[in-house]
Amino acid sequence: MDTIREDKHLEDIIIADLMISSEKVAHVQLNNPLEHALLVLIGSGYFAVPVLDDSNKLAGSISKTVILDQILGNDGYEVERLSELKVHEVMDDLVSVSEDASFIDGLKAVIDEPFVCVVDDEEYFKGILTRRAILKKLKREYYRR
Ligand code: AMP
Repeated sequence: MDTIREDKHLEDIIIADLMISSEKVAHVQLNNPLEHALLVLIGSGYFAVPVLDDSNKLAGSISKTVILDQILGNDGYEVERLSELKVHEVMDDLVSVSEDASFIDGLKAVIDEPFVCVVDDEEYFKGILTRRAILKKLKREYYRR
């Protein structure tokens, strides 16, 4: 976020001002095996990351919890399933907001989610909006007013 954006009042902010842009977001592709997704999740330290299709449109999200659930069999973990299953078979839906949505729309979206995806008019993935970014902006406004 640059200084001009930091100075904007809540009413003037759009989600694009607060998002982490796509090139800085760890993600996986629909056809990646679960073992690749697990490596990305462990390597990045995030609990979940977005799933994109071949054209960079948002498809869903994948989390460590879902992967561990999927490989847990009756007699313990079936590690071979990590290479058998693909991300698109087990991923979750993910809430998205438009890059030109208002601050309050972003706030509503992250009440129930630690992050949501940001898309353009054609559903192309532009980045993510985290609850942390919304809370930091609110804190700054609280001390400014
Ligand atoms: P934070 O508010 O920074 O703790 O981020 C909340 C969640 O957003 C993380 O647990 C991740 O699932 C996701 N996240 C944050 N930053 C990134 C990133 N750069 N790449 C992928 N996912 C991210």
